[in-house]
Order: sequence, then C-alpha cells, then structure tokens
Amino acid sequence: MLLHPSHRERLVIVGAGPAGYTAAIYAARAMLRPLLLAGFQPGGQLMITSDVENYPGFASAIQGPWLMEQMRAQAEHVGARIEDEHVVTLDLAARPFRIGCDSGRSLTADAIILATGAKAKWLGLPSEEALKGFGVSACATCDGFFFRGKKVIVVGGGNSAVEEALYLSQIAAQVVVVHRRDAFRAERILVERLAARPNVTIRWNREVDEILAAGTPRGVVGARLRDVASDAVEEIAADGVFVAIGHAPATELVRGQLALKPNGYVETTPGSTATSVEGVFAAGDVADDVFRQAVTAAGLGCMAALEADRWLVAQTPLRQAAE
Ligand code: NAP
Repeated sequence: MLLHPSHRERLVIVGAGPAGYTAAIYAARAMLRPLLLAGFQPGGQLMITSDVENYPGFASAIQGPWLMEQMRAQAEHVGARIEDEHVVTLDLAARPFRIGCDSGRSLTADAIILATGAKAKWLGLPSEEALKGFGVSACATCDGFFFRGKKVIVVGGGNSAVEEALYLSQIAAQVVVVHRRDAFRAERILVERLAARPNVTIRWNREVDEILAAGTPRGVVGARLRDVASDAVEEIAADGVFVAIGHAPATELVRGQLALKPNGYVETTPGSTATSVEGVFAAGDVADDVFRQAVTAAGLGCMAALEADRWLVAQTPLRQAAE
C-alpha cells in the first residue's frame, strides 16, 4: 500500500517484535487503525530463535519465526496495517510527530509506540569485526549449518549463550563455551541441559583476547583466551566463534529526543510505557532492562496500546479545537 507523502496517521508503531505486534493487535481492536512500520527484519530477535519453550499457551516447543508469523497474522486480522518499511528519522519535537523512511517516504503521527527492540552486542575486537561472515557470527540458527561436524566457540554466560551452545551442540562436533565468570547466569534448566551434552566443554573465567584467522580468504582458526584471574593466555583451535554476550537497546532513532537511562534503555514512567515526550510510548526490549522476555515485551506492547489510546482520546477535543 502506498501512502501519500505527508500522510497523517493517528498511531504509528515502530518495530515488529512481540511488543510491536501486540501493540498493533490492541490498538486495532481499539479502532485506532494503527500503522506498524516493521523495518528490514520484521519479527525481531525471535526470528533467530529456534525452540521457544516459555511462551505461555503452547504445551510443546514452538519455533520463534512461527510465533512471529502468528502475531503478525493476528494483528492484520484485527485490522492493523503493517508495512515492511524501515524508519530512519523520527522528529519528536514536531506535532504531529514526523517520521521518515529509508524509501524517502515521510508521514506524521499523533502518537508513536516505539518498539524497536535490542540488537546483539559484540566484543569490540578488530579481529571480530574483520571476520564477521568468515567464521564469526552472533546467530547460531542463521549460521550454525556451516559448522556441521566442526569445532566452534560460544562466548557468553546468559540465556543466549547457553541456548546457542545447545543448538550448536546438535550440529557441530565440539562446542567450547567461553565465559568470563565461574558460573552462568542462564536459567537452571538450560544450564543442566548443557551440562548433559557430551560434546560441550566450558572454559570458565576466560575472555576472548583475539580471534585467530588464517588462509585466503581469511577464516577463523581459533581464539586466544585470557584467564581473568592470572592473565595467562592460551590459544584454542576452532572453525567458528559465536558471540552471545547480550543485547543493547535500539535507540538510535530517539537519542537526544527521549530521556534514556544511564544504561541506554528508554526511560519510562514506573508502571507505564509513557516516555519523556507526551504521546510517545516505549515497549519491549528498547525500554525493558530487567526482564527482556518475549512475553514481557508482549505485555508491555499491550500496555503501550492502551495508554496510547487513552492519551489520544484525551487529546481529541484539543485537536478538534485546533483544527
Ligand atoms: P545477558 O543475560 O545479559 O547475558 C550476557 C552474558 O554475556 C553474561 O554472562 C555476561 O557476562 C556476558 N558478557 C557481556 N559482555 C561481555 C563481554 N564484553 N565479554 C564477555 N562476556 C560478556 O544476555 P542474554 O543471554 O542475551 O539474555 C538477554 C535477556 O534475554 C535475558 O533477560 C534473558 O533471560 C533473555 N533471553 C531469554 C531466553 C529464554 O527465555 N529462553 C533466551 C535468550 C535470551 P557476566 O555474567 O559477567 O555479566
């Protein structure tokens, strides 16, 4: 569907993860005719997640991409309009708010729900940057296939790292998890599952100093690890390195416009999705630095839609008077 270049929307939702889709479902049912701009990679982090076992309502594991397809279909079914359009600018000082897309399209909105989620963090090593796509990855479900029967390293100690290691242990011959502490912070059930995998070993209290490469084109051949206590260095051979050290909120669009917490997440009023700019609501991993689960993102998306609806209704007499 093509929009008029200066098209005015009542509510625009930016981002298509569990928060964005749930906001769209609730906003559509509130008769707000929301427009959801889904970006280049609709579905968010669940698109690169294989088994989801903790989303309520499903007795056995479901696939992340399937869950997102269902949410999208449900949102469209109840009347949300969804476009795979990537937002590049938001002007939150203007009223109505201005939105620019990478296609060159621009539109305005009376209210915005920001649900841009979070992006994978990297170690920040030059070798890591140089070898992305040549053995370095942050997505086992995307790239694990290339390491069938090989040896891989997984870096990190949270749910992401343990899940990546579990997934890779079914494909690779050997998985080495490198964690900078002596204990995982991942859920116990996942840690126990990992401990039972015979082809997984764990190098505790170690950081990756350097990713080692050789050949033409250069590909990963191993990593240099440093013991965080003794500073002792060792090299281990591996064909791939999967970095799974957490996520950072995707706030580029609103930096300098919305109040952010010191850790970079969007600040919202406690118990609410309201941000520092009236009419802008934030839901999901872009604002949640505590729980960061699919189900909590969905819950926050619901809250954002209900709050946006209330706010828009409260504005209506003012808007009509102004017009
Ligand atoms: P996380 O829980 O923040 O864990 C990140 C891990 O990476 C930590 O162990 C951390 O070490 C380590 N780390 C961070 N920076 C590092 C660095 N520069 N070098 C080496 N190690 C580093 O992140 P996550 O595992 O991506 O999980 C994010 C959120 O999503 C969590 O709330 C998690 O529960 C949720 N999640 C849930 C599921 C699920 O429910 N199945 C799956 C995936 C993610 P320290 O321990 O030393 O801090």
